[in-house]
Amino acid sequence: MSYGFNRRVPGGTLTDMQPNPREAVSVEMHAGSSPMAQARLPLLTAIQRPGLITPSGDPRATGFARLPRATPMNAYTLVGLTALTLLFALEGALPYYRRDGSRYAHALRNLSLALAAGALGALMAPLLLWSTSLAAEHGIGLCNMGELHPAICAVVAFVLFDLWMYAWHRANHEIPFLWRFHRVHHTDSAMDSTTALRFHPGEILFSTLVNCLVLAVLGMNLAMLALYKTVMILVILFHHSNLRVPDRLDQRLRQIIVPPSMHRVHHSHQRAETNSNYGTVFSFWDRLFGSYRTRARYDDIRFGIGAYDGPDWQRPLRLLALPWRPLTQLPSGNHP
Ligand SMILES: [Zn+2]
Ligand SMILES: [Zn+2]
Repeated sequence: MSYGFNRRVPGGTLTDMQPNPREAVSVEMHAGSSPMAQARLPLLTAIQRPGLITPSGDPRATGFARLPRATPMNAYTLVGLTALTLLFALEGALPYYRRDGSRYAHALRNLSLALAAGALGALMAPLLLWSTSLAAEHGIGLCNMGELHPAICAVVAFVLFDLWMYAWHRANHEIPFLWRFHRVHHTDSAMDSTTALRFHPGEILFSTLVNCLVLAVLGMNLAMLALYKTVMILVILFHHSNLRVPDRLDQRLRQIIVPPSMHRVHHSHQRAETNSNYGTVFSFWDRLFGSYRTRARYDDIRFGIGAYDGPDWQRPLRLLALPWRPLTQLPSGNHP
């Protein structure tokens, strides 16, 4: 069965990119014949070249052993899990604030929700692959036009994708329908590194769909997305953490990235503070677009949204049902 390995792609033909025939067979064996599987082929082949996919080194391997051992996306997952484990241990040794209740029970609740959201994200991953490979095949998007050096393109795409994340996060606060889902992230009354993974699957569904379009517009490939996601997971785990970071370090970091103090303001139950500091990786978007907010003290912030953030609302099943609870305006200026 032919998969069109000789089609022209940016940077050469796909045939040029085949490291050796054994790998080509391996890709072909597992690619399937659906349109989506065929759309994945050029991308899978392209990212094999820089070694981001590591095919099984054993020529006698059969079946699943022939599948790639690592992809950019599961490398990102590995980095995230390692960073989460380290931060969680550090939070136990150097906590920023004292908390009531077990941090393990809190982590278990947040990670249950993260598992549901992560499973949906994994199911939707082929959509991202499909959009990036379609854009590459048709020369659509900033990085697929061949006018920028690949390294410059990767940096520009990284920065622009972070700008998109700022805009998307802001939309999640300003559009009531999206806020219904995003508020699940904000109802954590004891923020720590596990809060970075506390998202409703609905929010993952919407963001993945819109991201397909953004990736195509920017012409990003899977390796560029994985690079962004790897940096992003490190920064968001850090800025959600309940880690005591020296003030000077925090102040220096905030010149470029979003440090814990800045994101703690975003998790304040005060509406004006919740609707500020939307940055994901870079902190300068908030300064640029007028949503940057500081406070005199950071150690007395009450986390939550002023409603649906009590102990009864922290159970995973209730959090999953939260988007269907009313959006009533509270007199205190909070917004559930
Ligand atoms: Zn938010
Ligand atoms: Zn957050």
